[in-house]
Amino acid sequence: MALTNSQYTKIMRDYEERQNETRLLQDKRKNEVITKIPEYKILDDEAIDASMEYARMTLLNKADDADKRLNDLKVQIGRIAKQKALLLQKNGYPANYLDPVYTCPDCRDTGYIGTEKCHCFKQQIVDLLYSQSNLNEVLKAENFSTFRLDYFSKNDIDPASKLTCYDLMSMYLKNAKEFVANFSTSKENLLFTGNAGLGKTFLSHCIANELLKKGYTVLYLSAPQLFDILRKELISKNGEERATTELGRYVFNCDLLIIDDLGTENITEFTVSELNTVINERLLGKHSTIISTNLTPPEMKETYGERNFSRVVGLYTLYKFYGKDIRLAKKYSTL
Ligand SMILES: [Zn+2]
Repeated sequence: MALTNSQYTKIMRDYEERQNETRLLQDKRKNEVITKIPEYKILDDEAIDASMEYARMTLLNKADDADKRLNDLKVQIGRIAKQKALLLQKNGYPANYLDPVYTCPDCRDTGYIGTEKCHCFKQQIVDLLYSQSNLNEVLKAENFSTFRLDYFSKNDIDPASKLTCYDLMSMYLKNAKEFVANFSTSKENLLFTGNAGLGKTFLSHCIANELLKKGYTVLYLSAPQLFDILRKELISKNGEERATTELGRYVFNCDLLIIDDLGTENITEFTVSELNTVINERLLGKHSTIISTNLTPPEMKETYGERNFSRVVGLYTLYKFYGKDIRLAKKYSTL
């Protein structure tokens, strides 16, 4: 499951298209500005002359006072840039109005940072290979801005925490936002437990959406999908080093792996031992993981064994969801 040539070409073509769009937009804005502010054109011409002179001098660099002259030019170019920005602002534009607007400023929509693939490229590979494209649609609907606390009961009290469902969810929502805010440093792992329909998947979608927006790589897999990938990896590796495909490596080293519905896969010795490997390798690599499951902690222990269980319980932050299926409440609220 690696990228085919045509998939690679398609991604690179998309980048080129984006760069073209950026250039077109930039040209359009520049024409608009020049028409409205004729002084801008004069400054712009001056800047071009100075830059060309600078380039020429760098290439030839023969005069005795070349260094001084280069430095003067640099100062001049900087001064003109400031004047241009001021002029824009004076006329009601943002100072950076004519800067290129990149979809991904990190790689300037080239897909690469140096010779390394940018995070936006890696995410596209995952999207392509594991058709997470439907996830993108889901994330438009399920994110922090659409999370509705009012579906959670203010009367129903969770016996474990002694909090109402509403207060419990408010707390988890706040914690999830902190998880996102501290993501680059905390390397926290989360375990969501509780029955279906209590918002576990929704909350993990909120987190995924937010981190994707921040440029992190996120892999969202149901447990059956995860083990399916690992099984195929195992077959293709022929006893060699594991995880040889882009997607396989991704399971182990993407910034956030979300395993949804753990326990719904066909549980075998293979899945139990692979889960152990995934959990361990990600802990060692300091990559965050979110596991969501309908199993209770004792059921988890029973299913995955003491070793898996103690690691997850010891090293993951537990979010224990409680309450009635909110999907019903949602359904009726839209009728
Ligand atoms: Zn990028």
